[in-house]
Amino acid sequence: MFDICIIGGGIVGLATAYQISKKHPKLKLAVLEKETSLAKHQTGHNSGVLHTGIYYKPGSLKAMNCRNGKQAMEQFCQEQGIDHELCGKIIVALNDEEVPRMKNIYQRGQENGVNCKIISREEMLEIEPRVAGVQAIHVPECGIVNYKQVCLRLGEIIQEKEENKIFLGHQVTKIRNLTTSLVVETDKQQIECKHLINCGGLHSDKLTKLGGQKPPAKIIPFKGEYFELKKNAKHLCKNLIYPVPDPAFPFLGVHFTRMIDGTVECGPNAILAFGREAYGKFDLNLKDLLESITYPGFQKMAIKHWKMGWGEMWRSYNKGAFVKALRRLIPEIEASHLVSAPAGIRAQAVSPRGALVDDFLIEDNNRVINVCNAPSPAATASLNIGSTIMAQLEARI
Ligand SMILES: Cc1cc2nc3c(=O)[nH]c(=O)nc-3n(C[C@H](O)[C@H](O)[C@H](O)COP(=O)(O)OP(=O)(O)OC[C@H]3O[C@@H](n4cnc5c(N)ncnc54)[C@H](O)[C@@H]3O)c2cc1C
Repeated sequence: MFDICIIGGGIVGLATAYQISKKHPKLKLAVLEKETSLAKHQTGHNSGVLHTGIYYKPGSLKAMNCRNGKQAMEQFCQEQGIDHELCGKIIVALNDEEVPRMKNIYQRGQENGVNCKIISREEMLEIEPRVAGVQAIHVPECGIVNYKQVCLRLGEIIQEKEENKIFLGHQVTKIRNLTTSLVVETDKQQIECKHLINCGGLHSDKLTKLGGQKPPAKIIPFKGEYFELKKNAKHLCKNLIYPVPDPAFPFLGVHFTRMIDGTVECGPNAILAFGREAYGKFDLNLKDLLESITYPGFQKMAIKHWKMGWGEMWRSYNKGAFVKALRRLIPEIEASHLVSAPAGIRAQAVSPRGALVDDFLIEDNNRVINVCNAPSPAATASLNIGSTIMAQLEARI
């Protein structure tokens, strides 16, 4: 019998287990992960940015958890000797029409307590000499880290306590609610626990259903494809260069990210993935795809945003179009500078009314807490999301 069982060995599940174990060392924890290693999905396929919280609505869960989570993540990395760097980023207004939208983001940054400043083109060129644009926001406190490395260390710390266990290669297939406990069945064995936390990422809605609750929204998988700059073009981007995002979408637009290992990634775009784990260009999971496209929420969203959707699809299958989007930020970029890099898939909750759920969504149902929407910046925010979930549990344990 475990006190708490956590489904998902991504950064949200592990950060939650870590926070609970740290504050309540007497509790016995189990983490169930279907893959044979940690951080195999969103967490292991992301941009590795320590977001500052500049974009998010003041007072939202994203804003609060991102600010506190970033601080906690930096502290964790320092304590554990994990490479990270506050390299700074710029958000570039490419023309005068984009300046008011850029200023709105700056305003949000101010309200969220982010250290940021509007800079002129000349100042911009001192930071990123190859960039286009008329003005930018400089966010010096933005950083980079490898979240997979963070997860591996979190996993080690969790298991330093003998009673805690991470079960790799255990896919949860059924959840039974008993009067005073829960039985979580996996393809290998069954585990009994008093409380359950679902941090299943791309499968969190299905796990919510397995636990007997109706998910408030459906997870629609949005693929993010990347290119990487070849060695001879890496000098074109020093750190992090972002466009001004479209406020109608939770995605940030294709950008340049220097990763902590020194590579420079370009992307990600945002297209419908043809399966929750269909990472390859031609991968298809027909059941998942049918589930997505027959969902009324998806259909409503597709009608509303069809133009954006087709544009992204076109860029996905046409390298020239992708390069064109990148060239808006760095005009010197050419197709020959780029090689394909592995894609990631975002778990984005879409409501039955067709809205992309913007904020984090955590539902608390008696013995089960379901993390129903934890898209970007949930990696940055993970240690604080973990503390938030722990606070919800504390009321009962
Ligand atoms: C392309 C991309 C770029 C991003 N960039 C950033 C960034 O720069 N900064 C940032 O802060 N965030 C970023 N994000 C968001 C961030 O990566 C995610 O918000 C975060 O990783 C979510 O973590 P998670 O633990 O909820 O999900 P995941 O990492 O997906 O983990 C969920 C885990 O649950 C497991 N699981 C699912 N079903 C079952 C089951 N039935 N039984 C057992 N285990 C199961 C899965 O195998 C998986 O390991 C990005 C995301 C993507 C996709």
